[in-house]
Amino acid sequence: MMNNNINSPEQRSTNKLKYDALVIGGGIAGQEASLNLANNGFKVLMVEKDLSIGGKMIQLSKVFPTLDCSACIATPKISETARNPNITIMTYSEVEDIKRDGNGLKAMIIEKPRYVKADLCTGCPICEEKCPVVVEDEYNYGLAGRKAAFIPFDLASPRIAAIDIENCTLCGACERACPPNAIDFSMEKKEFDLSVKSVIIATGFELFPAEKKKEYGFGKFKNVIHSMQMDRLLAPTRPFNNVLRPSDGRMPDNIAYVLCTGSRDLSVGNPICSQICCMYSIKQAQLLLGALPMTDVTIYYIDIRAFGKGFDEFYEQGKSMGVEFIKGKIAKIEEKENGNLTLKYEDFENGGKTVEADHDLVVLSVGVLPNKDVSGFFKSEPLALDIHQYVKQEDELLSPAKTSIEGVFVAGTSSGPMDIPDSILSAGAASAEAAAFIRGLK
Ligand SMILES: Cc1cc2nc3c(=O)[nH]c(=O)nc-3n(C[C@H](O)[C@H](O)[C@H](O)COP(=O)(O)OP(=O)(O)OC[C@H]3O[C@@H](n4cnc5c(N)ncnc54)[C@H](O)[C@@H]3O)c2cc1C
Repeated sequence: MMNNNINSPEQRSTNKLKYDALVIGGGIAGQEASLNLANNGFKVLMVEKDLSIGGKMIQLSKVFPTLDCSACIATPKISETARNPNITIMTYSEVEDIKRDGNGLKAMIIEKPRYVKADLCTGCPICEEKCPVVVEDEYNYGLAGRKAAFIPFDLASPRIAAIDIENCTLCGACERACPPNAIDFSMEKKEFDLSVKSVIIATGFELFPAEKKKEYGFGKFKNVIHSMQMDRLLAPTRPFNNVLRPSDGRMPDNIAYVLCTGSRDLSVGNPICSQICCMYSIKQAQLLLGALPMTDVTIYYIDIRAFGKGFDEFYEQGKSMGVEFIKGKIAKIEEKENGNLTLKYEDFENGGKTVEADHDLVVLSVGVLPNKDVSGFFKSEPLALDIHQYVKQEDELLSPAKTSIEGVFVAGTSSGPMDIPDSILSAGAASAEAAAFIRGLK
């Protein structure tokens, strides 16, 4: 995929950057906000913390309720963003110290070293092939390995290799093998002073850390995985050819889903509903019945919240396909000698009786949490957060894209849990507000 993500040589040499808008985060909300502004003639700098733009959407299998392939609908938008002449993308970069500067805003951008020269790397996998070091692949949430010299993932944009310097042994194998001599271990971080008129925060959400729910055994029992891992196992770019149990590589035949893991749960400090977990679990259950037709899938739930257009029909479709729904709260998961798992739960439909059920793979439908990076962006004029630590919307009903700082707007899941279509709508509102704000300054 071609990319346009290098600032002009002139801007890079002076370390001074000037744009109409800064969009922080290159997920679906950040892409939509950037494209809306760019297509209206504004110059946009998109700053992405990771090595590639794409956010969570590029990692998903299919999307509810249409079951469209997520990567197939995400990549054209990524490509459109990367090719837009009004959008400059800085990946592997972070924003610090946004402050008022007259009518506009100033910020510091820090670009971390990839140890690979972006203008020389062709995205071929030779460095990866020659690298002898294997570590856990964060893109696949630890289900597979990757090398210390690596292309972030197949659909990465930009498709430029990077060296994971913390795990690199400096053996030089990648450097010797790289045809265009793109590896450069002397690279250092670079700092840029940025002037902009408006900022859109689109830094997305964090997954609830499943290990925090100790009684469910994630991280201890191999066959307890989380829902983002299952989305990776089901994706067209999946690490294996099929859905396999981590303990023995066998295809599971009796899978359980535990809904509301880390959401609607005061014991872990997250009382709110994550809005997406019911639907993504029902999506995965349907995909599993297609991938593993002999497998039983049971969803343990407190309530099913199927509130969007076509969602209730999607739930009914899951039931008619044979997904079993049990209204019950899982108290504890225990591991058996063969790696199978016993779920102890309160059966709401049988007077709250404690019941046990055995499964050979358990998927924890983890909730979502706010991205804590946000408060670090603003030191002199703190950005207000809501009681759940998401970016506070000036008025949730009437001005959902405005924040407590004039000229700073919020898009997507930075302001609270939402699915992809709502993230796109929210990015539309943020970019319209930013455009009006910038025009008002002229
Ligand atoms: C298991 C699972 C399955 C799902 N399935 C579906 C589905 O089927 N259908 C559906 O509609 N929704 C689904 N969702 C929800 C969907 O993932 C979100 O709605 C969507 O990703 C939100 O997009 P976003 O841009 O707001 O955030 P994100 O996708 O989180 O993107 C945020 C971006 O900001 C970057 N960033 C973070 N911090 C910084 C920083 N400090 N500086 C710069 N950049 C930063 C991140 O690296 C990332 O690229 C699912 C979610 C999960 C967890």
